[in-house]
Amino acid sequence: MLNKYDIAVVGAGIVGAATALTLKRRYPSKKIVLLEKEQMCAQHQTGRNSGVIHAGVYYPAGSLKAKLCREGLTQTIEFCQRNNIPYQQCGKLIVATSDLEQHRLHDLYSRCVENDLNPIRLSQQQLKQHEPDVKGKEAILIKQTGITDYSTICRSLIDRFQQLGGGVMYGFNLRKIIQHTNSVDLFAAKQILNTGFLVNCTGLMTDRVAKAFGLELDFKIIPFKGEYFRLPKKYNDTFKHLIYPVPDPNLPFLGVHLTKMIDGSVTVGPNAVLAMAREGYSKTAFNLKDFTDTLSFAGFWRLLSQHKTSVIDELKNSWSKQGYLNQVHKYCEQILIDELLPFRSGVRAQAVDNNGEMIHDFKFASSELSFHVCNAPSPAATSALPIAEEIVRNIAQKLE
Ligand SMILES: Cc1cc2nc3c(=O)[nH]c(=O)nc-3n(C[C@H](O)[C@H](O)[C@H](O)COP(=O)(O)OP(=O)(O)OC[C@H]3O[C@@H](n4cnc5c(N)ncnc54)[C@H](O)[C@@H]3O)c2cc1C
Repeated sequence: MLNKYDIAVVGAGIVGAATALTLKRRYPSKKIVLLEKEQMCAQHQTGRNSGVIHAGVYYPAGSLKAKLCREGLTQTIEFCQRNNIPYQQCGKLIVATSDLEQHRLHDLYSRCVENDLNPIRLSQQQLKQHEPDVKGKEAILIKQTGITDYSTICRSLIDRFQQLGGGVMYGFNLRKIIQHTNSVDLFAAKQILNTGFLVNCTGLMTDRVAKAFGLELDFKIIPFKGEYFRLPKKYNDTFKHLIYPVPDPNLPFLGVHLTKMIDGSVTVGPNAVLAMAREGYSKTAFNLKDFTDTLSFAGFWRLLSQHKTSVIDELKNSWSKQGYLNQVHKYCEQILIDELLPFRSGVRAQAVDNNGEMIHDFKFASSELSFHVCNAPSPAATSALPIAEEIVRNIAQKLE
């Protein structure tokens, strides 16, 4: 017999998990299921990120990212406190190492002020007092930034969803969708189910699921791998804050940073290398369908023509450990090449539009029977709870 649900949320990363829970709280009597193709949650972006609870430094005032990141900072910390999940508000230093970066740092400072973050400006001397092992011309300190483990948060969201009666199906790889007047059939290899409404939170696969639903898309997901290294234990107490370079304002990536992880270790990374597989994590990971998809997209070639130099530099530094390390040496000289130890990588789902522009803000799309999270890059782990509220607010009329 066909399993019937009122709402199916597809994708058990942090956005899908938060959405399923928020929907179940709002509609306790509706039959809601969370579908995930892997055998457990958080296997892709959510379990492979830096673990930073962002404060909202970089995002233009008025953007969804600025709003939902600020709300997400508070809600993530509250969620951790209520559920005994470790977190730490260690603060973040953004360090300028050249005149150009100083200029950009001043713009970032103004943006922090616009976003009500009370940033603290540090001179070269003050920077040395705060972080003796970091060098730079000037820095800003954002005290609110923190760290946590998003896989643990994701599992906890799903536990709470299940406690309220929500259903979870792992190993359900949504491959085909057939729409009827008031419901849709969802097909995996060996299962079919029927739902009144679908919410697509499939991260790296979101454009494919939206397309399978019949939506006309003006973007495609281009995967960017983020490779990390771990530092030896002796560095665990070296840095008091997260140490970030000043990012290039034209790119949505933050630059290789030193991140204190919630287990006490320190990682270096991530870079941003164009990936040949959406869910491939080794250096040579290749998937013909994914790569063909990228190469056949005109927007990709437009993007490449605009960012050729940085795409090539990132690729070079990915293959050259010294090149990678040079990015860190700009603000911290003491790390040696042999101290870059292996660590997992992640792949970012970055929506790029037909004109070759990276879409910076969160982006959603909808139809009568569906809602799609089209672009949820960083800080979407921080912002997952308010993103979920935004989704529920958007679809409320359709569900009632
Ligand atoms: C290297 C890196 C560093 C980052 N650092 C940070 C950070 O420090 N702070 C921060 O806030 N954000 C960070 N981010 C961003 C953040 O991790 C993501 O924005 C967030 O995890 C997105 O969550 P998601 O649920 O949308 O996607 P995902 O976690 O990717 O989850 C999508 C899920 O959908 C499933 N799925 C896909 N297709 C199907 C299908 N057809 N059927 C069923 N299931 C399917 C997948 O298996 C997956 O479990 C980082 C990301 C990366 C990659």
